[in-house]
Amino acid sequence: MSVLHLEIMTPDRVAFEGDVSSVYLEGSEGRLGILPAHTPLIATLSFGKLRFDQTGKPREFLCGEGFLEISENRASVLVDSAEDKDDIDQDRAERALERARSRINSKEADIDLTRAEAALRRAMARLKFVKGE
Ligand code: ATP
Repeated sequence: MSVLHLEIMTPDRVAFEGDVSSVYLEGSEGRLGILPAHTPLIATLSFGKLRFDQTGKPREFLCGEGFLEISENRASVLVDSAEDKDDIDQDRAERALERARSRINSKEADIDLTRAEAALRRAMARLKFVKGE
């Protein structure tokens, strides 16, 4: 079976490293599917699910924004965050959701709405991911 080498790196750890048969992830212009022997590529990534198959065993991470580089059958994913289900603290995500909602609903002029909406989307995505949705 042909494989490619995948590394998922965040500022504080290597979240995964190993040979996989496919990778699907959230490119900033849409979902990307990577198979072995992919042509060299650099792409930006949006917050979203990264799924890969390791000898028939699919695994998923929820990844933050970042970059993908493919070169010589290695896919390097450099992202702000990468969590698998067990890494996610549900209470923390619920607090983040509440904080973002109250910022969005407050009528104060100095609210950075774009930032609050992005925080809301991250918290909602984490809560859905934990529930397997
Ligand atoms: P918070 O306001 O709770 O920090 P956030 O969406 O602003 O949430 P990020 O900027 O996406 O957080 O991530 C910062 C770091 O915190 C990353 O390492 C990320 O993996 C981690 N992190 C954020 N939320 C959670 C969570 N609910 N459970 C576990 N780790 C989390």
